[in-house]
Amino acid sequence: MRAWAVGTPAPADEGPLLRVEREVPEPGPGQVRVAVTCCGVCRTDLHLAEGDLPPRRPGVVPGHEVVGRVDALGPGTTRFALGDRVGVPWLGGTDGSCRFCRRGDENLCTAPRFTGWDVDGGYAEACLVDERFAHRLPEGVDDEQAAPLLCAGIIGYRALRLAEVPPGGRLGIYGFGGSAHLTAQVALAQGLRVHVLTRGAANRRLAAELGVDSVGGTTDVPPELLDGAVLFAPAGALVPVALRALDRSGTLAVAGIWLSDVPVLSYAAELFQERRLRSVTANTRRDAEEFLALAGRLGVRATTTAYPLDDAPRALSDLAHGRFSGAAVLHV
Ligand SMILES: [Zn+2]
Ligand SMILES: [Zn+2]
Repeated sequence: MRAWAVGTPAPADEGPLLRVEREVPEPGPGQVRVAVTCCGVCRTDLHLAEGDLPPRRPGVVPGHEVVGRVDALGPGTTRFALGDRVGVPWLGGTDGSCRFCRRGDENLCTAPRFTGWDVDGGYAEACLVDERFAHRLPEGVDDEQAAPLLCAGIIGYRALRLAEVPPGGRLGIYGFGGSAHLTAQVALAQGLRVHVLTRGAANRRLAAELGVDSVGGTTDVPPELLDGAVLFAPAGALVPVALRALDRSGTLAVAGIWLSDVPVLSYAAELFQERRLRSVTANTRRDAEEFLALAGRLGVRATTTAYPLDDAPRALSDLAHGRFSGAAVLHV
């Protein structure tokens, strides 16, 4: 089968992805095989290809927003039938037994397996998934639309939750790409006031089209103090900027898996008055189930740009340079 693998990490324009031919994988116990139809291109794929995230397995196939049909069942599987539509997310497995799994925080598992980092992902014609970590997808959302929900959507939803904005409260969103534009829709549907601070005319236009309350540049001061904010841009320099925009006891949640260094913080100007800064690490299956149900019910719509699987390097390069707004999706 056709697939892309991460070779030697390098800037996206220097071709870190290698086109490879692989055997179609056979599902082991508890696994199902997914014939991939679409796979979203996440910023994490870019961090992995460019070496910001250290490779955990040489030659791994990236891609963790995988949509497809079950086309083979491993021994002992019970959840899915052949032909079922499923989504394969970033969280590909946990040990189920560490102290974090036991208390319900499986996103912090000390021995996790991530799709497209530890195990092969969806930049390929097929991939395997532990059936316990696959998700059913909302009806009425087509494959291209569903793909970005599986990481961008789920992580953004968890970040929004951790920003702890009260009902009717004021939310800031810093950076407005694949994850942020889905999160903004949930926040607006929940009745929050949403202020978007981002670079890029196309991103600002997309935010305005979604009906957010204000749109500005990344270092602008939002028109009112914020109860909470989510930093989606992988720019540590924005941490003090966003903290200064918070009201007393406000929370800034950093949604990315990778962030450039955070500058020295001023305790008085940026943290005092019980402002909080926290990271967001992966997600639990419960986050995913909640978000996917909500996305179906609220009609959350991803703005997508389609690429054929063969053009995966171009999709990564376009993401690196911010050449599209919303989310890129590979079609297999
Ligand atoms: Zn665990
Ligand atoms: Zn992702």
